[in-house]
Amino acid sequence: MSDRYQQLTSSGLGRQLAKRLGLPTPTPLRRHRPGDPVVSAPVLSGAAEGARLGESISKTLGEVHAQVEHAPTEGTRYAALVFDATGITASDQLRQVYAFVSTAIRQVATSGRVIVLGTPPEETSGTAERTAQRALEGFVRTVGKELKGGATAQLVHAAPGAGNALDSTLRFLLSSKSAFVSAQVIRVGPADVEQPHHSRPLREKVALVTGASRGIGESIAETLARDGAHVVCLDVPAQGEDLARVANRIGGSTLQLDITEQDAPRRITEHFTERHGGLDVVVHNAGITRDKTLGRMSEQQWDSVIGVNLMAQERINEALLTDSSPLRAGGRLIGVASISGIAGNVGQANYATSKAGVIGHVQGLAPRAAERGVTINAVAPGFIETSMTAAVPVMIREAGRRMNSLSQGGLPIDVAETIAWYADPGSGGVNGNVVRVCGQSMLGS
Ligand code: NAD
Repeated sequence: MSDRYQQLTSSGLGRQLAKRLGLPTPTPLRRHRPGDPVVSAPVLSGAAEGARLGESISKTLGEVHAQVEHAPTEGTRYAALVFDATGITASDQLRQVYAFVSTAIRQVATSGRVIVLGTPPEETSGTAERTAQRALEGFVRTVGKELKGGATAQLVHAAPGAGNALDSTLRFLLSSKSAFVSAQVIRVGPADVEQPHHSRPLREKVALVTGASRGIGESIAETLARDGAHVVCLDVPAQGEDLARVANRIGGSTLQLDITEQDAPRRITEHFTERHGGLDVVVHNAGITRDKTLGRMSEQQWDSVIGVNLMAQERINEALLTDSSPLRAGGRLIGVASISGIAGNVGQANYATSKAGVIGHVQGLAPRAAERGVTINAVAPGFIETSMTAAVPVMIREAGRRMNSLSQGGLPIDVAETIAWYADPGSGGVNGNVVRVCGQSMLGS
């Protein structure tokens, strides 16, 4: 679906006109192409006194062949500013992150990154440290709003002992795979992570993607296959033809099934046990909308949305966490929520409830999943250019596109890349997160 306004403002004249009228001028975002380096310009790296992640950060920057500088040089455009703020234990020390970012923020390249690493506030050792670490959130979210040229800012909360588990998250955030993810707070815990093969991290893994016949699900299936997984594409029988087309193109296979059927969990577990001898990645992408304001919403509209978007997923995950499950250690359960589930939305009481439920489900199940060496996370997409959003009335669609720090809609691939990061064998420390893929949407923030 094309964004004509963005096309217009990409031309010199259109851009000038938009600027003069005080209208947004969205920068076309750089997106990953196979073979692209993680960073293609120097990285400025700094740390607060007493910070503890230096070794892990240097290791990742070294492995991605970044040219690392520790003080800004005039005229250099930086692919990323990376600041280890874990040494900040009191509010007067926040000055260090201000000093580092403020001197170089105007040198951040187009589609560049600002990444601040801190300690999860609940894992700090006293009130002063907790206060200062929590304060970083306001800082990073503001940086996200002030950055220009499609650049983004993130805060990574690295729990004590999580240093060795940071690599996959740093790579994702530094790269153009995280193009539409901004102003997120991502928690990484300690984990023994597999060292993946970076060009095909999902080699020999088996993945299930629900709702894979079109839209975001199709892109997720393609991306997991690109990363080396055998993808089983699931959708309702009525979508059989499109489903087969997607599966054939990516060398995957199909499973025609309505996930709300009573025996769906059993059929899924049997399918993977018998046909594939196991399962590694499950993406609960299938979802529906049945919009009506509450006074006009029928029971059927309520039940169908809660049934597909939430209850089917709860039942399938329960089955996948039993002892006889085909889900292997190192497994990944991934939900698709929505910013409607965070902010609420007129006409979507059923949908917003179901998507908020997905967030609760992820948070509730994370400790149990961890006991089995499995992670569970969700993405919460904002405005994504799909046939679903193409059907939205034009004024609402324009508002949805522009009301975020990047002034544009995301693409299905942006959701898919975020899911691929969760799925990565190196992301074993990423558990119980809900990362928004919304370009820092104003809704619910
Ligand atoms: P879509 O309607 O294009 O695709 C959804 C797919 O799910 C369809 O192929 C459909 O057949 C399948 N499906 C529906 N009910 C099913 C069932 N009972 N069993 C099996 N499959 C079923 O939607 P999309 O825009 O690609 O959205 C994908 C996901 O992303 C959904 O969960 C949606 O809520 C979420 N999301 C989308 C946006 C957006 O902007 N498009 C924003 C936030 C969240």
